[in-house]
Amino acid sequence: MDLNFTPEEEAFRQEVRDFFKENLPDDIRDAVRQGGELTKETMERYHAILNKKGWLATTWPKEYGGPGWGPVERHIFDEESCAAYAPRIVPFGLSMLGPVLQKFGSQEQKDYYLPRILNGDDWWCQGYSEPGAGSDLASLKTRAVRDGDEWVINGQKTWTTLGQHADWIFCLVRTDPDVKQQEGISFILVDMSTPGVEVRPIKLIEGGHEVNEVFFTDVRVPYKNLVGEENKGWTIAKYLLTHERTGIAGVGFSMLELEEVKALAKKVIRNGKPLSEDPLFAARVAQAEIDLEAMKLTNLRMLFTAQKNGAPGPETSILKIKGTVINQELKDLGRRALGPNAAPFPKSLAGTNLDVAPDGHANNAARYFNNRKTSIFGGSNEIQRNILTKTMLGL
Ligand SMILES: Cc1cc2nc3c(=O)[nH]c(=O)nc-3n(C[C@H](O)[C@H](O)[C@H](O)COP(=O)(O)OP(=O)(O)OC[C@H]3O[C@@H](n4cnc5c(N)ncnc54)[C@H](O)[C@@H]3O)c2cc1C
Repeated sequence: MDLNFTPEEEAFRQEVRDFFKENLPDDIRDAVRQGGELTKETMERYHAILNKKGWLATTWPKEYGGPGWGPVERHIFDEESCAAYAPRIVPFGLSMLGPVLQKFGSQEQKDYYLPRILNGDDWWCQGYSEPGAGSDLASLKTRAVRDGDEWVINGQKTWTTLGQHADWIFCLVRTDPDVKQQEGISFILVDMSTPGVEVRPIKLIEGGHEVNEVFFTDVRVPYKNLVGEENKGWTIAKYLLTHERTGIAGVGFSMLELEEVKALAKKVIRNGKPLSEDPLFAARVAQAEIDLEAMKLTNLRMLFTAQKNGAPGPETSILKIKGTVINQELKDLGRRALGPNAAPFPKSLAGTNLDVAPDGHANNAARYFNNRKTSIFGGSNEIQRNILTKTMLGL
C-alpha cells in the first residue's frame, strides 16, 4: 500500500489551491472564518462558482455533469477547500439525492431533477428523522396512502436541516404498515409549496436556526414522485446514508482548527506565561494532534480501499467517530483557551489582544455548542460503534 500522492495528484492539488485563491470571494471566506451561519444567498453563490468550473457535484460521474472524480481527488478537494476557508457544499441535493436518483430514479426523474440540482434551481432537504424515529429510523410513522394518481401524506419529520430554505424535501414514508418495518417504507419527493406542508423552526442552544420540524397534513403529491419501487425505500435509505457519511470526518477542518488552537494558545497568557507552555493544556493539544495524524492515515487507508474496491468499507464508521471526537476536542480547547472571552458575542473580544476574529475565534462558544451535533447526526457515534462491533469485530 503506497500512501503517497502521485505527481498527477499533487498537480491536481495545486490546481485546486489556485482555483480557490483566484475564485473564492473574500466576503465568503471571511464569513466561513467567523464561524457563524451562512446565508442562503452565500451558499448559492458559492455553489454557482463551483458549478461554473464543473466541480460542484463532487461525487457525480461525468455523464450527469459531475467531474468524475475518484475518492482521492475528492479528498484533495476537501482538504484544499477547508484550507481556503471555503464553505461546505450543502449536501442534500448534491451528495444525497443526486446519487440516489442516478441509481434508483426513473429516466424522467433524472432528466428533470439532476440539472436543476446542479443549477441551484431547487434547494433540497432531508426528511428522514421523526420524533420517535432517529437511530431506530425504520420505526418511522409518517404515512403515505395512495389515492388514484396521488399520494396523501400525513405525519411529521424533525431536525430537518436548512428546511426553511428548501423548495423540495425527499421523505421516507410508511406505505405499508402491516409488514416488517423495513419492508413497508417508500422514498417520495415532496414539493414544499404543496398545501399542508408546514415548516416550524427549532432554535438551537447557540441561538442559530439551522434545523426545523416539518409537518404534513393531507399533503397531496403526484404518484410519480415515488423514487424506485413502492415499499422498497429502505434499500434507498441505506444507500443514501453511505453517501451521507462519506467525508463526515472533516480532516481538513480539524487540521485548520488545530493550527488555530496552537496560535491562540501562544497568545493567551495564563499564570504569567503563554497557555501553550501549560503542561496540561499542551498535553491535550499534543494528544489531539496525535489522534488527528492517526486519523489522517486511517483516512488514506480508507481512500486506498475505496479506490481499489469501488466503495469504502466500515472504516467510514471509525472516521465518523474519530473525526467528530477530535473536532469537538479542538473546539473545547479553543473555548477553554479563551475562557470568559469565549462568550457567544464576538464583541467581547474587542479591545483585548485576543481580538482575532478574522482568524476564526469569534463566535467561539457558539461554534463549540453548535458542534455538539456532529456526534449525533449522520448516525450517532454510539450507533457507529454498534456497526463496528458487528462488521469488524464480529460480535
Ligand atoms: C443538527 C442536526 C441536524 C440534523 N439534520 C437532519 C436532517 O436534515 N434530516 C434528518 O432526517 N435528520 C436529521 N438529523 C437527525 C439525526 O439523524 C438524528 O438526531 C440521529 O439519527 C439520532 O436520532 P435521535 O435524535 O432520535 O436520537 P435517539 O435515536 O433517540 O438516540 C438518543 C441517544 O441514544 C443512543 N442510542 C440510540 N439507540 C442506541 C443503540 N441501539 N445503542 C446504543 N446507543 C443508542 C444515541 O446514540 C443517542 O445518544 C439531524 C440531527 C441534528 C442534531
